[in-house]
Amino acid sequence: MNQCDVAIIGAGAAGLMCAATAGYRGRRVRVLDHAPKPAAKIRISGGGKCNFTNIAVSAENYYSANPHFPVSALKRYTNEDFIALVERHGIEYDRRDHGRLYCRHHASDITRMLLTECDWAGVTLQMNAAVQGIEAVGGGFVLQTSAGPLQCESLVIATGGLAYPKLRASDFGLRIARQFDLPVVPPRPALVPLEMDARWQKRYGVLSGVSFDACVSCREASFCEPVLITPKGLSGPAILQISAMWREGEPITLNLFAGEALEAALLELKRSGRSLHAWLKRGLPRRFAQVWIAHLQWPDRLDALTDAAVRQLASQLQAWTLYPQRTAGYGKAEVSLGGVDTAALSSKTMMAQAVPGLFFIGEVVDVTGQLGGYNFQWAWSSGYAAGTFA
Ligand SMILES: Cc1cc2nc3c(=O)[nH]c(=O)nc-3n(C[C@H](O)[C@H](O)[C@H](O)COP(=O)(O)OP(=O)(O)OC[C@H]3O[C@@H](n4cnc5c(N)ncnc54)[C@H](O)[C@@H]3O)c2cc1C
Repeated sequence: MNQCDVAIIGAGAAGLMCAATAGYRGRRVRVLDHAPKPAAKIRISGGGKCNFTNIAVSAENYYSANPHFPVSALKRYTNEDFIALVERHGIEYDRRDHGRLYCRHHASDITRMLLTECDWAGVTLQMNAAVQGIEAVGGGFVLQTSAGPLQCESLVIATGGLAYPKLRASDFGLRIARQFDLPVVPPRPALVPLEMDARWQKRYGVLSGVSFDACVSCREASFCEPVLITPKGLSGPAILQISAMWREGEPITLNLFAGEALEAALLELKRSGRSLHAWLKRGLPRRFAQVWIAHLQWPDRLDALTDAAVRQLASQLQAWTLYPQRTAGYGKAEVSLGGVDTAALSSKTMMAQAVPGLFFIGEVVDVTGQLGGYNFQWAWSSGYAAGTFA
């Protein structure tokens, strides 16, 4: 029977980081993945440039039933550690808005770097490998794989979340958790566009492709970034961010003029008798302003309105309340929320407390980052944690 010290299922961001870390410790590491190529999500991430981390990372950038869980791993392997690795490999990168770091050339630079590290660490990579079953045997594990049985001391599950099934995302990790009686926080799509009802689509669908800046809020959270109108609803960074907070039936609120003393400005506009449409163009795309005014039936000149009506207009512009119908689902989501319940895992090692030798890392764990490089940082940090102890 094939043997190794550490078997890792999933050659994605977390799995490759874990593999290199364990390999450098002298562990014999084998990574199995059912896809033909490793790290498919890295290759398409960040619009092909991979937003690989952020200049400011803290547990506050993550959603989890236990908000403190990511602290230990994020401290043990930081964004600066990963940036140093990227620099050692001579990969050029750019800092964009909100401290997000992207490859200057191509996301595949990151994949190449991780594969080089795995190579230097003596890791064996086995692609197109299906794992049909896992059994705990005598202090280790036996895996039934498409290439025959494999025996290992430590088993790391790094099969990712459910988002983007066309890149071979699967619920494998959650099934393994359940097999070993570990609790799972029910998953759902996040960092995903939101879809509106048919009436809204008919009104605003003509604006598909138009984007504008807004602060989008839901419950206690608010994100100020671009919003994009799509044929079915809304997307863009601010909407992807708020999708992690939004639940069916709840409203989201768009502030189209955040931080402005809008009431006073519109009362002044009313007095001047100038065009509302021309005024709105300062902060909003022309077509958007046109359609928005027409649908909410505001006149172009405000002089005939009462001051109370002008205040209502200001409040509509600063708190445009919408009721999304649904998310666009896993097919369009960047990540899934939920996953293996952190209550069952050690935050230091990522090992299941009740199953010695079994580790869960990356997105399969109930730790999900905001948009901005935080999900990859979690993959690096949790992968490093498990790689240090597996
Ligand atoms: C379109 C898109 C863009 C994104 N952009 C960014 C970004 O710019 N910045 C950022 O921080 N995050 C981004 N993300 C999120 C990020 O890609 C993930 O959070 C991250 O890849 C998770 O790492 P992981 O190793 O846990 O899982 P993955 O990277 O998804 O790796 C899981 C691996 O497991 C394999 N696998 C799955 N099931 C099985 C099975 N049954 N048997 C064997 N192998 C299996 C898969 O083939 C895959 O190789 C993006 C996601 C998407 C979908």
